[in-house]
Amino acid sequence: MTSRLHLASRAGRLTSGVRPHNQNLPPLAMKITGQCHCGAISFTALVDPNRVLVCHCSDCQQFSGGPFRAVLPTPAEQVSVFGAAKHYVKVADSGNRRAQAFCADCGTQLYATEADGQPKTLNLRVGCINERAQLLPHIQIWGESAMPWLQQLHAVPFHSKGIASALVSTAQNLAGSGAA
Ligand SMILES: [Zn+2]
Ligand SMILES: [Zn+2]
Repeated sequence: MTSRLHLASRAGRLTSGVRPHNQNLPPLAMKITGQCHCGAISFTALVDPNRVLVCHCSDCQQFSGGPFRAVLPTPAEQVSVFGAAKHYVKVADSGNRRAQAFCADCGTQLYATEADGQPKTLNLRVGCINERAQLLPHIQIWGESAMPWLQQLHAVPFHSKGIASALVSTAQNLAGSGAA
């Protein structure tokens, strides 16, 4: 409860000066920007920071090359994409078809959306959003395929930069990012 209240006040401060374009925007609409690693594709969006989720499904692990993927579902009409993303269509066992959008030059994953017809929702990949440090996930899904070692990660040595850099404590790091 307290973390949600904290996020609400923080989001409110971040969006001061952002004027909503229509009445359907969520009350906590936050303006974000993002881009792929090479910069060929970029985007801006008005997002609801309360919708960030972490997905531990095996597809997200494989697509991302990481232990999980964080996404921010956002109505398509609130996202502007500049540049042409390539789409890879993933077909689920259920027959559901999802377009996975990425940069054909640098491989950065940008979003997933409906593969057929007009896109309704873009699941923005949090890793390419510039404001990602402020986008606290509120829910986790596909826990049954989550990496079992995630719970122990806080006890693993934590360097500030590369392996030769100073060690920082997890608690110290969390305090620092919270104040930023
Ligand atoms: Zn790129
Ligand atoms: Zn997933």
